[in-house]
Amino acid sequence: MEPKLGNPQNTIAVIQKYNFVFQKKYGQNFLIDTHVLDKIITAAGITNNDMVLEIGPGIGTMTQYLASAARKVIAVEIDDHLIPILEDTLSEYDNVTILHDDILKVNITHLASQYNGGRPVKVVANLPYYITTPIIMGLFEKDVPVDNITVMVQKEVADRMQVGPGSKDYGALSLAVQYYAEPYLVANVPPNCFLPRPKVGSAVIRLKRYSSPPVSVRDPALMFRLIRASFNQRRKTLQNGLSNSPDLSLSKEQIAQAILALGMPASVRGETLTLEQFARLADYFFEHTHQKGNPLC
Ligand code: SAM
Repeated sequence: MEPKLGNPQNTIAVIQKYNFVFQKKYGQNFLIDTHVLDKIITAAGITNNDMVLEIGPGIGTMTQYLASAARKVIAVEIDDHLIPILEDTLSEYDNVTILHDDILKVNITHLASQYNGGRPVKVVANLPYYITTPIIMGLFEKDVPVDNITVMVQKEVADRMQVGPGSKDYGALSLAVQYYAEPYLVANVPPNCFLPRPKVGSAVIRLKRYSSPPVSVRDPALMFRLIRASFNQRRKTLQNGLSNSPDLSLSKEQIAQAILALGMPASVRGETLTLEQFARLADYFFEHTHQKGNPLC
């Protein structure tokens, strides 16, 4: 079935038919550019074997494209007013299930086992920008079976996902994304590709999940506690950032010893450490503190 939405005329027609009012609180900016939609579907590499999870289908624009390419699409939408619209715009597609729910409360692992025999799913979305980070972190940290995540995000967030030490955009999100996945910038997307137009530029990014992470670390959760503590106070030294964190119980001496043992200067700042260095720091604490019956939390 050829997708019918994705251009301004048909989108406006649907919105007028249902007197739909855009809700800012749900980050509603609908895509009205067929070239961008085609790029997203191609970048996600969807085949007719795939189950796709779409987060926030809106009026079903991208859902029509996904349903034409995939075996099964599960679309999770929070807004009550969009459910009857989706039932209309997707009525001709028998491979789409609409779930009326908050994506942050959905058990995606359960959906993968119910609809995909537990095999990894592809996640595709024009994300609601107010919850981009919790959605992506939830997919990674809850060990959801995911093959790749192809999403529209704020341009600035796409930048944060790709940079390393030395950039002002480098932070906990960069390290988490790069530990779990290989980021690839698919396209920059200007505001005029959406209705209504967002105030910021957007970008499509694909995160291909690694089968094994690029660095080895004994306790990834501990590494991420160290990372968060370092970047929560990014202007402070690593030593102060870690010792001030309520999430860790490390003494100043333990931290100083670790920094010395890893060959870093005492005044080093957390924002200069690579993923590999955070992994070594976590392993140091795991071996010297954690294992001796003094867990860090
Ligand atoms: N996919 C559509 C498109 O590209 O035209 C709409 C994208 S719009 C940027 C984000 C969508 O996510 C909206 O439909 C919004 O109602 C929905 N949404 C917002 N918060 C959500 C949540 N917590 N769970 C599920 N959907 C959500």
